Amino acid sequence: MATAKPKYYITTPIYYVNARPHLGHTYTTIAADAMARYKQMRGFDVLFLTGTDEHGQKVERSAKKNEESPIDFVDRVSAEYRDLWKHLGLRVDRFIRTTETRHAHAVQHLFREIQNNGYVYKGHYEGNYCVSDEMYIDDSTPGATCPECGRVTERVKEENYFFQLSKFEKPLLNYYEQYPEFIQPEARRNEIISFVRGGLRDLSISRSTFSWGIPVPDDPKHVIYVWLDALANYITALGYGASAGQADAGQAGDAKYKKYWPADVQMIGKEIVRFHCVYWPAFLMAAGLPLPKSIVAHGWLLFEENKMSKSRGNIVRTETILDVLGADALRYFLLREVVFGQDGSFSFDALVQRYNSDLANGLGNLASRTLAMITRYFKGEVPYPSNSVSRTPADQAIAKLAERTIADFNALFEQFHFSRALEAAWALVAAVDKYIVENEPWALAEKQDETSRARLATVLYTSAEALRIVTVLAHPVMPEATTRIWTQLGLGEIAQVPLPDLRWGQLPLGTKVGKVEPVFPRADKSAIERMQKMEDQERTPAAARAATAAAPPAVEDKDKKEDVGRRASSPGHPGTGQAPQTPAQPTPTTPPSATAQSPTAAPATDPKITIDDFAKIELRVAQIKVAEKVKGADKLLRLEVDLGTETRQIVAGIAEAYAPESLIGRKVVIVANLAPRKLRGLESNGMIVAASLEGGKPVLAAFLEDVPNGARLK
Ligand SMILES: [Zn+2]
Repeated sequence: MATAKPKYYITTPIYYVNARPHLGHTYTTIAADAMARYKQMRGFDVLFLTGTDEHGQKVERSAKKNEESPIDFVDRVSAEYRDLWKHLGLRVDRFIRTTETRHAHAVQHLFREIQNNGYVYKGHYEGNYCVSDEMYIDDSTPGATCPECGRVTERVKEENYFFQLSKFEKPLLNYYEQYPEFIQPEARRNEIISFVRGGLRDLSISRSTFSWGIPVPDDPKHVIYVWLDALANYITALGYGASAGQADAGQAGDAKYKKYWPADVQMIGKEIVRFHCVYWPAFLMAAGLPLPKSIVAHGWLLFEENKMSKSRGNIVRTETILDVLGADALRYFLLREVVFGQDGSFSFDALVQRYNSDLANGLGNLASRTLAMITRYFKGEVPYPSNSVSRTPADQAIAKLAERTIADFNALFEQFHFSRALEAAWALVAAVDKYIVENEPWALAEKQDETSRARLATVLYTSAEALRIVTVLAHPVMPEATTRIWTQLGLGEIAQVPLPDLRWGQLPLGTKVGKVEPVFPRADKSAIERMQKMEDQERTPAAARAATAAAPPAVEDKDKKEDVGRRASSPGHPGTGQAPQTPAQPTPTTPPSATAQSPTAAPATDPKITIDDFAKIELRVAQIKVAEKVKGADKLLRLEVDLGTETRQIVAGIAEAYAPESLIGRKVVIVANLAPRKLRGLESNGMIVAASLEGGKPVLAAFLEDVPNGARLK
């Protein structure tokens, strides 16, 4: 590796195997992949790391539920992530799994270093723990809900090793001040600064009540806290600790660690900023190790403006989009449509619309019309832009715009402003389109005089050169499609184009263009329907069972695990700092028996549910403010109910039992986290709880005492 290239190390979170990969994970990984490719084209020696986080109590329990050993369980889910990244064509340099032996040794080494530096002590922890988030909860009320996910916490009382996080309050604040770029964007930085200013308590960094983890050195009845284990992956993947004799024999040692650490960018979802911007740097400081240069947090990916979560039934699988429109369409959409750092919305409609307008009609059309005309009018050779007599200010304007586009694109992309960078590049596409229309090369081609011929050459050269520039700029975002356009342009290896040298006027004259084929065929309405249908089939239990019968174990327990990986860029994860519409959005796990072990078995129902299962149902007190009949529906009433923090519309089948006016002001119980559904064209956001009597009319649940609106029933 004798290279003078500067290094660039970029990471994604390692995804928690308790969740199967979905679009949220894909979003983070695609963004990191695009940046990795971009940096490579800028001449960096890039290392791109992703992986899976495989320890913890939640995994141990899920494996047990699934009647699998933990290692079988994690092997299977981790493979799904690797397969998906492969299928997406991501250029991952290293995929780490926290169940790798050398990771375990390196984590133990890190633990010892922190211990030797005097930041670890033994103590008793008594308090609440959210298993779902693998997080200690400061609220000491037994049974308190987790502020992150709203689930009921578990009481933990055990002897633990503690990390003196409290000692790092000042050093962290100093660091944030000294390196303002350490936490990006600004909103996350402010959030973290105020969190740390509020005071840091020591953190328990071991557990002794379960065993699926890395043993504490010299005290193997404890396992190391899963977040310490997981965060360490960013250095253990590079061989950290290997030279201390901790790693397996035959490993490459810590040369990569020395070369690539500290990371240049650690990309994460905003729900895990605290772990990455407080705990992680504190652990590193305690071990005397350098800190990453920046932690960059993106927002959530919403589905049609709603959080993706299993309870809403709106999780989108990456595979569906891949199968219908391909990886590049998805990559382009996510990076163009979503403003990086903010929440963004995904919908099949928007995806297809964007695909058609920007790719099929935009870049794809520019490529095929330009190349087709070069083929037809100049026997497929890029023409010489002829003498100055044939030039007009319009040609010069395109050249100038292209130069400015290159500069703007680079400045924006470097700052993770993917959307604006692409917008700038597509402004050039639009300008060239207009230029072609105004200069009518097809009309010039009909005239045989020398001036027209020279003018035609100039117009097509200008168009082709602009196409070349947009294609290079778009390469990190759409590696596959741009490679195809590049080949059609008759050029070499697009990934090898040095971006810092990109200028106007580098298209070699006389280049023989390749066979012209459409790169982005137009998608019609059926594309949306196909994707919708594929997702619907995934969601119906019948389809899930059918898949079990037909497919290998990789898909058999699709409903088993939670959709919301807390470590992942999980769109469904209600994190800190966001005022929740509904305070808790629990994501249900399917009862243990819901996955039939035998494909032919009927879905069994478990007669008993756990307190966790119950906690998933969010029952709240609501007051009816508006009640009216729904036209054409004898049984339905449209209600507006006050939940204390919001007003909602609910459509309820109680019209035969209650006159609308008798309901105004009445307090009722609603299921607040029911996925929205449409009844007679009206969206219903929740369900009113009533006793349902055989052959009789429903009777609403009510309270004898006065209760405030929004109070939760549990
Ligand atoms: Zn939680």
